[in-house]
Amino acid sequence: MEQISNYVNGQLVAPISGSYLENINPAEGKVYSLLPDSDERDVETAAVAAQSAFQSWSQMPLAKRASILLKIADLIDRDLELLAFSESVDQGKPMKLAESVDIPRASANMRFFATASMHMAAESHLMEGEAINYTTRTPIGVAGCISPWNLPLYLFTWKIAPALASGCTVVAKPSELTPMTAFLFSKLCMEAGLPAGVLNIVHGLGKKVGQAIVEHPVISAISFTGGTVTGKTIAATAAPMFKKLSLELGGKNPNIIFADCDLEEALSTSINSSFSNQGEICLCGSRILVERSLYDRFVSDFVKRTKDLAVGDPLDETTRLGALVSEGHMQKVLSYIELAKQEGGTIACGGERVKVEGRCASGYFVAPTVITGLPQNCRTNQEEIFGPVVTIMPFDAEEEVIAFANSTAYGLSATVWTNNLKRAHRLAHQLKSGIIWINCWLLRDLRTPFGGMKQSGVGREGGWEAMRFFTEAKNVCVKL
Ligand code: NDP
Repeated sequence: MEQISNYVNGQLVAPISGSYLENINPAEGKVYSLLPDSDERDVETAAVAAQSAFQSWSQMPLAKRASILLKIADLIDRDLELLAFSESVDQGKPMKLAESVDIPRASANMRFFATASMHMAAESHLMEGEAINYTTRTPIGVAGCISPWNLPLYLFTWKIAPALASGCTVVAKPSELTPMTAFLFSKLCMEAGLPAGVLNIVHGLGKKVGQAIVEHPVISAISFTGGTVTGKTIAATAAPMFKKLSLELGGKNPNIIFADCDLEEALSTSINSSFSNQGEICLCGSRILVERSLYDRFVSDFVKRTKDLAVGDPLDETTRLGALVSEGHMQKVLSYIELAKQEGGTIACGGERVKVEGRCASGYFVAPTVITGLPQNCRTNQEEIFGPVVTIMPFDAEEEVIAFANSTAYGLSATVWTNNLKRAHRLAHQLKSGIIWINCWLLRDLRTPFGGMKQSGVGREGGWEAMRFFTEAKNVCVKL
């Protein structure tokens, strides 16, 4: 059985404890590889390696640093098929999705930040003939990057690429549920000639490895993507140590549909925004709010299309929804469906585990589920489910839908479907979300800031925001 290694100081190494955890293929419900059950000793070794690599990496000429990161991007493209296959086996998503979205976006992350680093500019401010201020931005040191399981390589590279491009060295931890692509990535880094210690990948449990990264005194910035509860623990640990923090957390995103929208586009995109990656994308629209005059028609068409979505073997070309990431997560999603029934909801379609024939007979599949008839303030409509489950609710007026949309503790993204230009802009300004999509979903320009409001996180990633996060600004004031 394949055994995943940590990547520390440029070498693939076993965990110091010698212990391993089982890595399960969720489509089969079977163990298919082993990953290091690392602990604080492995984090210590990684932090020491990162600290000793910092000086030469941060002082390496920009073009040379960028060329190594670009080489890694090229290698990701070269190994697209293997990486997509591994991500599908690790996470349960359709391989086709990994091939067309996750892996290409991972190489795009590397490429974007490698080239951005070559164009970063610092400001200067002239004080009317009296003095000139100039600002320098230097890499902060060793950064800790912790990523979740839903888009494994994409979100892993989204964190480490700006850190490395800014001149930081990194200690990173992918989710223990999906370690395989990060392991393959470490081999690509070695092949690309990334100097030893610049990136260190320590596999294992969040409570051991993640916590040790957050607590380590040498690590001065933490970039974390994951659940809101974990985010709170990390903030509580890091704040008294005065670490820089970027937290990208959960969402309960509204998808608002006005009667004057282009219905075909709204329907087909809403199917994607509800069920892509089995609904396991923080940006999925899990609450669909439809103007009352369109409500019945929308629900009927949406349910019809949902029933047509093929659930099955992630390696099958025709599969639209693969397996959920773990048995525990499947049980959580199913328990929310039960909760919705108790709260008075009607299951318009789905609502149960799906038994797939053949090799996937023991996999963790859940039918795409549409629930109607729930009030806004019930738990099903307020808490993040993070699975193939959406609710649809009617609304009568613009002010009402804005209040509904803003009613949760989250504020990650929102989508609005309308052909009324003024209304689109009005809503964009009033919705409390970090990203607003008008007549589209999941279009991402890497130059734009990315992040959530309220309990969806603090800080912004993407573009200069990400590069600046990994640097420290210093102002020099020179008397003229
Ligand atoms: P978790 O918060 O459970 O875990 C995220 C990462 O943190 C994992 O690597 C985990 O390790 C680690 N971790 C767990 N406990 C600690 C700790 N005490 N200290 C440090 N690290 C720790 O999230 P999930 O992996 O379940 O991911 C799903 C969540 O991520 C959803 O809420 C989703 O909305 C959110 N998300 C947010 C995005 C955004 O950009 N805002 C994007 C994608 C997802 P391990 O799992 O190995 O134990």
